[in-house]
Amino acid sequence: MKRLHPHLLINGQWVQPTTATTIEVTSPTTEEVIGEVPAAREADIDRAVGAARHAFDDPTGWSSWSAADRGAALVRLAEALERRGPETARLVSSQNGMPLQLSLTSEAVAPAGLLRYYAFLAETTPPEEERASFTGGTTTVRREPHGVVAAIVPWNYPQTLLFFKLAPALAAGCTVVVKPAPETVLDAFVLCEAIVEAGLPDGVINVVPADREVGAYLVQHPGVDKVAFTGSTAAGRAIAEVCGRLLRPVTLELGGKSAAIVLDDADLTSQAASLFAACFLNNGQTCYLGTRVLAPRSRYAEVVETMAQLANALVVGDPLDIATQVGPLASDRQRTKVTGYIETGKQEGARLVTGGQRPAQLRRGFFVEPTVFADVDNASTLAREEVFGPVVCVIPYDDDHDAVRLANDSPYGLGGSVWTSDPDRGLGVARRVQTGSIGVNGFAIDIGSPFGGVKQSGLGRELGPEGMLAYQQVKSIYH
Ligand code: NAD
Repeated sequence: MKRLHPHLLINGQWVQPTTATTIEVTSPTTEEVIGEVPAAREADIDRAVGAARHAFDDPTGWSSWSAADRGAALVRLAEALERRGPETARLVSSQNGMPLQLSLTSEAVAPAGLLRYYAFLAETTPPEEERASFTGGTTTVRREPHGVVAAIVPWNYPQTLLFFKLAPALAAGCTVVVKPAPETVLDAFVLCEAIVEAGLPDGVINVVPADREVGAYLVQHPGVDKVAFTGSTAAGRAIAEVCGRLLRPVTLELGGKSAAIVLDDADLTSQAASLFAACFLNNGQTCYLGTRVLAPRSRYAEVVETMAQLANALVVGDPLDIATQVGPLASDRQRTKVTGYIETGKQEGARLVTGGQRPAQLRRGFFVEPTVFADVDNASTLAREEVFGPVVCVIPYDDDHDAVRLANDSPYGLGGSVWTSDPDRGLGVARRVQTGSIGVNGFAIDIGSPFGGVKQSGLGRELGPEGMLAYQQVKSIYH
């Protein structure tokens, strides 16, 4: 059944969009249209920013509330989202191909978890701190919310990545205009229903599904005080240029090509689940994945074989089947891009060990088999660019020093992992990798610790206390 949403949630009301333009959502599994929602245009953005502006500037509004009152509202929103968790998970999987086993443990639950975490953090972090001044007297150092936030999110984890921004921004006292990606707009309407049910004040969250041109209009809107973006490095660079000109604060979580460093003492025999999560999660459409597997020459053939066995054992199919581990890519455009990289890899001389095709049993849908390349040159396109599909390349190295050199020889620096029987040795190597976050014998995002990238993987950090600071400016009052 097709999901139709005729209205937009702006200023706490379901309003008529200003034009009849719509966004159609296509299932990546069946290739059929499964929903249609309004495509917000510039006039809708004006209304949404105006509502967020008013909600922020109102002297008795959201930003003036105590942290406890804001926290209570966020917990109400968390409860409303939890009630809708399974529906959200199914919708996300239907739109972007995320296996249901992942959407039930990420999209269904992460938003509420993040809201509760930041509600608690806001309540327990004093907004002011007294410091003895070096020149005599005292300074009150005060954290104040930035104001109106434009939150622009991609399609790969549409709810989780949105709440990386929404939860700390709201907890800090900001108001928000949310722009979901056109590929995943249906789950955004479940969020809208939860916002209405939770009784958040009008204008605190406004949701405007739109294409990138309208997104660009939002970024440069004079009513916006801060931009928070997750997506491609190309879009991030365009947004950063605009924000640079406007001197507008911006947080960017961009692409990656992270290294999974297998040390020569690693025991990979019982690590299949962790390797899957670190290298293939969400059909390869996860920004931090270790898609460059660095293997010691002494054990190179064995590591290639382990990765190939892992790829071949994965259950590929309908993302709504709970047994599925790898679903289709999110869009035809994405499949074309990924198969293009597979062809480039072959032309550049990499050895295709397994995968690279449409799975034989799946005639419809944007599927690509889990794919492993060996003998990949770290300078090749396949090793340098973000494929954003289930494609891993295995690169040989000589010793630990060489492994770190190769890991760091990348335009990106977002995630990564080190695999070893010696955790201290793993930690030592992890410290030397130029990246925003890295794991030893696995990779997981910890909501209590900062997440973000170095180099072309982004600017600023989300999550943890640092993630809330990104929505606050610090003022010093000398007295
Ligand atoms: P994208 O970066 O183009 O789009 C992400 C979001 O930003 C969408 O909501 C889009 O409408 C919006 N957007 C794009 N350009 C904008 C602009 N100039 N101003 C304001 N908003 C803008 O990502 P995509 O086209 O969906 O995917 C392309 C590639 O991006 C993927 O193949 C992948 O490599 C990468 N990607 C990375 C992540 C990540 O988490 N790091 C997520 C999604 C996509």
